[in-house]
Amino acid sequence: MTITLLGIPQDNNSSYLAGPALAPDRIREAIYCDSANLFTESGHDLGDASLWSDAANVALEGLAGQAAFDQIRTTVSGLLAAGNRVVSLGGDHSVTYPVVSAYAEHFGGISLLHIDAHPDLYESMQGNPFSHASPFARLMETGRITRLVQVGIRTLNLHQREQAARYGVEIHEMRDLSGVDAIAFDGPVYLSFDLDALDPAFAPGVSHFEPGGLTTRQAINLIQSFKGQLVGADLVELNPLRDSNGMSAMVAAKLTKELIGRLLDS
Ligand code: MN
Ligand code: MN
Repeated sequence: MTITLLGIPQDNNSSYLAGPALAPDRIREAIYCDSANLFTESGHDLGDASLWSDAANVALEGLAGQAAFDQIRTTVSGLLAAGNRVVSLGGDHSVTYPVVSAYAEHFGGISLLHIDAHPDLYESMQGNPFSHASPFARLMETGRITRLVQVGIRTLNLHQREQAARYGVEIHEMRDLSGVDAIAFDGPVYLSFDLDALDPAFAPGVSHFEPGGLTTRQAINLIQSFKGQLVGADLVELNPLRDSNGMSAMVAAKLTKELIGRLLDS
């Protein structure tokens, strides 16, 4: 088994701002920035090329809509079939739909841990059912998602509460994180991390500032400590155009290293 990084430079399903398509290359730069070493907190040296590889960015030039999703899903399916575990770097959150579709197909069903300020359960947003506000509605419709557990949510409106009830989503809202330490899964787990789950004080380089969020430390602890077998992850919604000093890219790089570390320990 090899852990493989994959960039997905797509942001044309964003409802508010462009920019996340620039994120994969900024996160790579931050990972290799001389200001920090390449060790995970659990002690893996990611400078060891045998531990993980980089499959570069999905070729999305000239592609949009379903054609772009097909390219993403096919790329991830190929990596999974070759024995890889994929950490993908978005991109806006719409990319999680084709990535997890490939995962669910490969594993025949999968649980999701979704960390975000937003539940992303809209039936449709601005007339786009594949919006970055909708990937978890699309995924739950497939029937291949065994469980969807969300953490950090602080933007529920009536429609999304109804959607959560309809799909049986387990939500740990930001206002009550008392159950987070007990999160446990049977079977393979995929983790989808939207950077705006963090309080904008920690990571202001996102399109949607939503105050009252997780600390970076709380997020890292969750990545390290939930019970279950992690088999893949994505980190989405870094917007380098709002990251004035590169600190949010560094936070994204730290989270990426810890996600790789958790995969190495799973
Ligand atoms: Mn979000
Ligand atoms: Mn999101």
